[in-house]
Amino acid sequence: MKIKIIGSGITGVTTAYYLSKNNHQVTILDERRYPGMATSYANGCQISASNSETWNSWSNVKKASKWLFKKDAPLLISLKPSLSKYSWFLKFINSIPSRNINTLETCKMAINSNKLYQEIAQDENIEYDVVKKGILHIYKNKNELNLARKINLIYKNAGLERWEVNKNEIKNIEPKIYGKNIIGGFYNTFDYTGDIHKFCIQLSSVLRNKYNVTFKKQHVTNIKKELLDTDLIIICAGIGSKKLAHGIGENLSIYPVKGYSITINNPGEPAPWTSLLDDEEKIVTARLGANRLRIAGTAEFTGYNTDIKWERIRPLIKWAEYNFPNINTEDIKPWAGLRPMTPNMMPIVKRSKYLNNVYYNTGHGHLGWTLSAFTGKKISDLLL
Ligand SMILES: Cc1cc2nc3c(=O)[nH]c(=O)nc-3n(C[C@H](O)[C@H](O)[C@H](O)COP(=O)(O)OP(=O)(O)OC[C@H]3O[C@@H](n4cnc5c(N)ncnc54)[C@H](O)[C@@H]3O)c2cc1C
Repeated sequence: MKIKIIGSGITGVTTAYYLSKNNHQVTILDERRYPGMATSYANGCQISASNSETWNSWSNVKKASKWLFKKDAPLLISLKPSLSKYSWFLKFINSIPSRNINTLETCKMAINSNKLYQEIAQDENIEYDVVKKGILHIYKNKNELNLARKINLIYKNAGLERWEVNKNEIKNIEPKIYGKNIIGGFYNTFDYTGDIHKFCIQLSSVLRNKYNVTFKKQHVTNIKKELLDTDLIIICAGIGSKKLAHGIGENLSIYPVKGYSITINNPGEPAPWTSLLDDEEKIVTARLGANRLRIAGTAEFTGYNTDIKWERIRPLIKWAEYNFPNINTEDIKPWAGLRPMTPNMMPIVKRSKYLNNVYYNTGHGHLGWTLSAFTGKKISDLLL
């Protein structure tokens, strides 16, 4: 079949991989010049089944309302009226009863995806600064730790082995951490980290050279017109998916939830190698080889803009300097990206309601790097 994929982020390139391996003739259209330049550029880099917990809970709603007027809080919500934002929040609240089942489902997808990435990297010789030292979740608050214990039972049911660690064990796992206020944590060695952008670039080159995938720089506005010279279209356009779907009369509930990262170049010997997740601050870390440390986090509901605001970057630097007091923060590269977030935090992997030859693989939210190998394969299996 002749297939067009819209978007060359992580969802687009993994989808193209599985389809072209099944002998489909694939073209990827993207308005950007290079693959992986939007949200798949400088994210937290964790391939993390242990971060499968969906955000739909009353305790998160309560926290959000407390943070509403604090400029440097982990979550920022603009109060400007917006119909799409408010209807998204309503659906978010309506999804609270499905939180446990969605967390379980996400964790299962993530476990599958983790293995698929290892297969792709091995089969196609892809090097993307992988660090396999597990992911350590840290807690400074008793309530949060108790909540993590409950979530861990769901992860266990999904097949993820993650265990509780005390303060001393945390120090043994990551000796560089200052850890003054840490009261406990959870650790697993199944999850790992790797540079999403490098992965997208290298997989794209494999797609071009080995699987004859064509890349075209093009801003797509009209899906029906694009269908004239192809058998099928798959929309993998991240936050752009909503507008494309709207063009064929379909309403996808995807909101752009902004996040920030800093890449610390030459962080020095006092920087961590174990990937961390600070659940209360909503901050993750990933070591990208000897010379780079990525720190990412925060969630902002402020519409479609990727402006980098200093008051959102400063907490990430402060976090690094507090937890790793001797780290070198002289050379820092800030970045902001928009998570394509659905209200129930589940990706949209399905055929369009209105056009039989249009599919979606989008809406991966805070876990797009983790889940895309799985959903890319799922779309390809659906077509078989
Ligand atoms: C701060 C931050 C930290 C994160 N950390 C993690 C993490 O640690 N682990 C994890 O699993 N996930 C993480 N994520 C989430 C993850 O980065 C995203 O879910 C993922 O990158 C989304 O990939 P995508 O392919 O759907 O979208 P994108 O990477 O945004 O790709 C979409 C592509 O579609 C193109 N496009 C859109 N509209 C059109 C159009 N009309 N015509 C042509 N082209 C179009 C765009 O140019 C773009 O290249 C993080 C996100 C953020 C912001």
